[in-house]
This record gives sequence, structure tokens and C-alpha cells, in this order.
Amino acid sequence: MKVETLAVHAGRTIEPGDPVSNSIVLSTVFQKSADGSLPSGHLYTRHSNPNRESLEACLAELEGGAVAAAFASGSAASMAVFHGLSHDDHVIAPQDIYHGTRVLLDKLYARWGLRISYVDLTDLSAIRKATTDSTRLVWIETPSNPLLTVTDIEAVANVAHEVGALVAVDNTWPTPIVQRPLTLGADMSIHSTTKYLGGHSDLLGGCVVAKSPDGLFEHVREFQTKGGGVPSPFDCWLLRRSIATLPYRMRAHCDNARTIAQELSQHPNVETVHYPGLSQHPQHAIAKRQMADSGGMLSFQVRGGRKAAFAVVSKVKLIAHATSLGGVESLIEHRASVEDPTTSTPENLLRLSVGIENVEDILADLMVALG
Ligand code: PLP
Repeated sequence: MKVETLAVHAGRTIEPGDPVSNSIVLSTVFQKSADGSLPSGHLYTRHSNPNRESLEACLAELEGGAVAAAFASGSAASMAVFHGLSHDDHVIAPQDIYHGTRVLLDKLYARWGLRISYVDLTDLSAIRKATTDSTRLVWIETPSNPLLTVTDIEAVANVAHEVGALVAVDNTWPTPIVQRPLTLGADMSIHSTTKYLGGHSDLLGGCVVAKSPDGLFEHVREFQTKGGGVPSPFDCWLLRRSIATLPYRMRAHCDNARTIAQELSQHPNVETVHYPGLSQHPQHAIAKRQMADSGGMLSFQVRGGRKAAFAVVSKVKLIAHATSLGGVESLIEHRASVEDPTTSTPENLLRLSVGIENVEDILADLMVALG
């Protein structure tokens, strides 16, 4: 089936007489048969629940994976992967990794015994040089946050697999509509479903989708069902409902972002635009090869430094000044001020999550703010 059809139907089983929209199953416990077996297949909601089961089947199908585990946030999903590693295991992560994942690695997992190297993942020889006998995982995030650097997933996966390491890709920004890491050689795809998959800035969630139910994913499942950082049945239902429109929303996000990136790149008060869909983007050729479109996220550097960037943020009216991304509404944020004081994010950089409003209205708002 094509992706638009999967987005509506994957993971949903409707029998004659059933409601067409799946019901929300709030019960935390499920009745056993006299012999102790489980006729529904469910025992207790921390282990499994019909709404989570349906969501996980849908996520696995969309990513072309064998299995998926849903979590209460994207950060909990990332933690499940790191938790599956052992003391002294080595992880290679991108230099411009999402700030929150870096905090997880540095504050929780370094203390816990993981060894982490931050590497420029656009440089394959640097990755090779960073590998050690104990490298177990290469973590990719492409396009990166907030500089939209594109990593060649297939090339990095080849290097990682040569030394027996697994590859996990944070696929939150592109979503499986724009990029399918498992088809490019990655072993796992991770999402903050809070963003585009949820799509309406009203739910928190995450997931890990894997090519194989064995190996590291077994630990992910254990972390999920024993640790219990799971989404509620309502959040699973809401997310599954939102995914039905994901292909159409992503098309609008991408079309709008492309137009805005082109317009901004010609504006005299804009120094640089970071968007993989622009021909001048340093990894445009890789993006064209591995992404079906260019995504709904972009960042740009305002001429005049930090003060000028904040002036833009204070003048926009339609675009909300808020963190996060992937919702139907456009959001803008000055990233350096929300990241660690040691961040290398430029002080004049604004990140724009382009919504699905009419592009002329978003552009008009931006043009007034930029002067
Ligand atoms: N990965 C990326 C790329 C993100 O942008 C975020 C959140 O902004 C996360 C992971 C963490 O997701 P959550 O906020 O759902 O924990």
C-alpha cells in the first residue's frame, strides 16, 4: 500500500459491526480465562494496551520496520536505546545533536558509564578515526537541529557496520514521509512523536522503530514494559488519529518551507538560510538522494547579530514565539538562548518551524518583522 493509505489504515483492524474509529481502552487490567490465558492478548497496560498496540503496528509499517515501541516522550524513547547499552560501551554522536539528547548523554549516561564521542558526521574519516573496539552505537540526526546539516545515512551505516556498531537515526524532523532510515541501512529510527507525527502541539510522545525485534530492541522493549515510561491510551489514540493526515500535512510543511527558504535567501537583512532544499546547501546532493522532500524546518541568520534576531521575534504576529516544532502552526525561536551557554549555535540564528497556514500569510508576517 502507498503511504497515504498506510497512514489511514496501518495497525487498525475493524471487524463488521465495530466502530469505524477505534475506541479508547482505559482499563489498566484485562480479564484472564479460567486456565489463566489471555483471550485479548493483554494483561496489564504497562505491558501492552490495544491503543498502544495499534499505534506501534502503524509506526513500524510507516518506517518499514519489524517492530516499534511507543514511549511517553521522545526523550524517553532515546533513553530506552541508551539504556540498552552497557557500562564502558562507546557511542558516536553528532556534534550538532539536538541539545536535549546531548544533555541526556552528558548528564545521565556519561555518569552511568557510557563513553561518548561527538563527531562531525559529514566526515566519514573522522567517524572511522573515532571508532574503538567498544563502539556499539552511532547516533545520527539528519537534518540536524538547528543548523540543518545533512548526514549521509547509508555511508555512515556502512562505516558503523564495519566495526560491528548499530545505527540509530533520530528521524523526528523529516518523519517517515520524507526519510526512511531503515531502508538506508540504519537499524533503528527514533522519534519525538510530540512533533510532526502528533502534529498539533497537543500531545507528548516518542517511539523506537527497529529493523529486528532481536538484540538492542529487546532491551528497548524491556525498558518500556518494565520501566513503564509509556504513553496513556488516550495519547496513543490521539497520535494514531493524527498520523492519518501526516502525509498531507508534511506536503504542506515542505512546500511552505521551500518557498520561505527561497524568499529569505534573497532578503537583504538575512545573512544565511539553512535549508537542505536550497541548491547552495552544502549537502544538497545527499538530501536529494535520501529525502523524498526537504522538510518543514529551516533556520536563518539575521544581519545585525543577536539584537536584530530578537527584534524579528518580537515583531512577528502570526508566527508564535515558542519552542518545539512540527505543529500545524508556525513557530519561531532564538535557539542559542535556550541551549547551553557553551553552545556553538550562532547568536543571530532563528529557527522556524513552518506551519501549514497559507504561505503568503507566513511570508507577509516575516517580511514585516525583517523590515
Ligand atoms: N529529538 C529531536 C530532534 C527533538 O527536536 C526533540 C524535542 O525537541 C526530542 C528528540 C525530544 O522529544 P520530547 O520533547 O518529546 O522528549
